[in-house]
Amino acid sequence: MTGGPYYAGIDLGGTKILVVIADASGEVRATARTATLAQQGPDAVIERIVESVREAAAQAGVDAGDLARGGVSAPGPIDTDDGMITQPPNLPGWRNVPLAAELRSRLGFGIVLENDANCAAVGEHRFGAGRGYKHMVYVTISTGVGGGIIIDNELYAGASGAAGEIGHIGVSVEGPRCGAGHPGCLEAFASGTAIAARAREIIAAGGLPRTARIGEHEPPVTARTVYLAAQQGEAEAAALIESAGRYLGIGLASIINVFNPQAVVIGGGLTNMGEAILGPAVEVARQRSFAQALADVRILEAELGERGAALGAIAVARDRSGDGRA
Ligand SMILES: [Zn+2]
Repeated sequence: MTGGPYYAGIDLGGTKILVVIADASGEVRATARTATLAQQGPDAVIERIVESVREAAAQAGVDAGDLARGGVSAPGPIDTDDGMITQPPNLPGWRNVPLAAELRSRLGFGIVLENDANCAAVGEHRFGAGRGYKHMVYVTISTGVGGGIIIDNELYAGASGAAGEIGHIGVSVEGPRCGAGHPGCLEAFASGTAIAARAREIIAAGGLPRTARIGEHEPPVTARTVYLAAQQGEAEAAALIESAGRYLGIGLASIINVFNPQAVVIGGGLTNMGEAILGPAVEVARQRSFAQALADVRILEAELGERGAALGAIAVARDRSGDGRA
């Protein structure tokens, strides 16, 4: 095969590992995926990552040892300086695992580590919907709510690498608690987990009969169950999704007013609900944003889908090594 150099982007998720082999322009040559099985512990997972990288490289027609560099998108919190996974809630039993060093010694090329939402932000900025925008904020709505901030074409990491926790923008003094235990965080209103939890409460009180019926047929009740019921005409289910969208809109307005970005890119599984959730979100964002900031911003849907974080990890790996920009 011609071209190259080629890079490995590794998306280490709580349930699956996705490896992408791509060139510097983000052109994907091969992908491989496998289950994480995090409960088997770091050594087994690291071995599966290495096998997946070798498999994807072989598909791409390159020897894994000839890959220029690799980036890992991993659930936070992580120590990016040391390439260490510290204590991720999505990888139970993992404590201070020096993932970058372990992979480097097995694969033979340089590896950097960055948190998953930041990787997805960089991916969309470099290769997806955020291309060409100097100031961009990425928001992911899925099981949780997260994000990443790009200022002047650079990922803004903050003092300790913890910036971009969009899901923890406060939208209420009281209310349900987020995964970190704070009351009233955006994530506690606008995530898939939040929608499902609220639906189960309403079902327990005798409401949402259609959602309940679909949930009995295909348990458990998730945000998708609520969405299916809404599509089948259950008004209360539609209202639940609309409410999540309106809270998301409060979060988007905060982002627009604080950062004055050129683009806000929204990704994550809940975007599959389309207008049902994004319609009210954009409406509320417009109502609550300053006119000039609103005129300057485009609210866009992410383009890279599930490959976004792995591609972003490649861009981060290139940037940190001084290999330059795509
Ligand atoms: Zn929170």
